[in-house]
Amino acid sequence: MTKLHCISLPTPFPVGPVNVYLAEGEPLTLIDTGPKTEATRAALSQELARLGHNLADLKQIILTHHHVDHLGLAGEIAAQSYAKIFAHPYNLPWLHDYASTRKHHAQFYRGFWKQNGVPQELIERMLYLGEALTQFRDSHLPVQPLPEGREIHFAGCDWSVYHTPGHAGGLICLWHAQSRTLISNDHILKNISSNPILEPPMSGEATRPQRLRDYLREMNRMAELNPQIAYTGHGEAVRNVRELVARRVAFHHRRADAILSALGARTMSLWELTQELFPALTNDADFFLAISEVQGHLDLLQNDQRIVETFHGEKVLWKRPT
Ligand SMILES: [Zn+2]
Repeated sequence: MTKLHCISLPTPFPVGPVNVYLAEGEPLTLIDTGPKTEATRAALSQELARLGHNLADLKQIILTHHHVDHLGLAGEIAAQSYAKIFAHPYNLPWLHDYASTRKHHAQFYRGFWKQNGVPQELIERMLYLGEALTQFRDSHLPVQPLPEGREIHFAGCDWSVYHTPGHAGGLICLWHAQSRTLISNDHILKNISSNPILEPPMSGEATRPQRLRDYLREMNRMAELNPQIAYTGHGEAVRNVRELVARRVAFHHRRADAILSALGARTMSLWELTQELFPALTNDADFFLAISEVQGHLDLLQNDQRIVETFHGEKVLWKRPT
């Protein structure tokens, strides 16, 4: 394998810096780009220059998922370098037409949150957050699909693409079997469990995907590969992937148990449970993540038949089965 450089770039988001990866050799490849900000652009150019390259030399950009902290600079880099951009097909609506995809998601969130008891003012504020992210990315990216099963060449070798939904529906991991190297990006992070962000039903489907269940299944699938290292989207690389995944899975089962005991004998909405589980939240972005997190655990509990969904008019409530 030729050199794979981890480059940490600043972002304006609470998550802190994001990691992108420069793979030397042919084709010169960048995995993720960071958001579209002046500081990120300057840091990326500087790091590339230090390694003896510049943005215009890039031939290939692989985007790990559609979140803005990972891809905002892709459009302008591709415009300078004529690099081809690849991403899992699930991301294509986001990347080809951001404005209408965001509108579709906003419509879903508005209805879902309302049905689950979230106060109207908070709904409006959380929707505004989504709007505010628009400035950090381009609306139309010329992206080519990179589905699971495909191999892609960079860093002097062929990498297998794994589709690992959970944190995001279109997230991919890249795997080099010979060196047992995984580029896990936000799927496996060293210090935090990624949020299983709520997403609307996929096109042609009637029900919402259950992203925490996807996340746990796909973490186990990556652990089964037994990577000797996983390069992450934020923070340090992970060397003990199997052990970390076992800990993460156990953590989520414990959190599901905690939600079940908070529910007790009551009948409660997602919003009421979120407030009980996370009483100290004040920031709208944290509310957004906490609601996704609790819904993910309600999905686990429902799937294990430990809770049932019940309706009060339009409103969704949860209780233990009788
Ligand atoms: Zn992400």
